[in-house]
Amino acid sequence: MKKVYNIFLIITLLSIIGIIYLQYDNINFKNNPLPTETLTKINHEVIKIRKKILQNYGVNVNFPIKISDKLPNNLYGMATLNHQNEIIIYLNKNRFKESGSYMYAVLAHEYAHAMMFYFGDLTKVNSGHTKKWQQICYNIGGTTCERFVDRHDILIGKVRF
Ligand SMILES: [Zn+2]
Repeated sequence: MKKVYNIFLIITLLSIIGIIYLQYDNINFKNNPLPTETLTKINHEVIKIRKKILQNYGVNVNFPIKISDKLPNNLYGMATLNHQNEIIIYLNKNRFKESGSYMYAVLAHEYAHAMMFYFGDLTKVNSGHTKKWQQICYNIGGTTCERFVDRHDILIGKVRF
């Protein structure tokens, strides 16, 4: 009986340690910026996109990129235009926890929205996924430029992040 009790105790202790470790890992991720490696990769991809914009549109833009964990969970990123006419691209921090291989696609998609704002096209038709937006998206090397995605990833006016 004592042996069974000991085994039970060990299993319980191991489970508790496991739970504590998982929570520590989560808190650690929440309270810290993304790893330098990820940030470097983002910068790299942005440079490639800006180069393509310069080639295709002859303008040298550099929109601020902010990483936030306040974005709706289903979004990888968001392009915003606030009342001060600033264009800011947000990336959803929680979505970069596992892998960042789709980062270029996300950045190009949002950068295309930002370019629409830049050109003064604030259409909300199809949540901003118009033909014109799609053309920009493809021109800058995007791969997720579908027009009829159910994605509400532009915000004009009051930005709450
Ligand atoms: Zn979009």
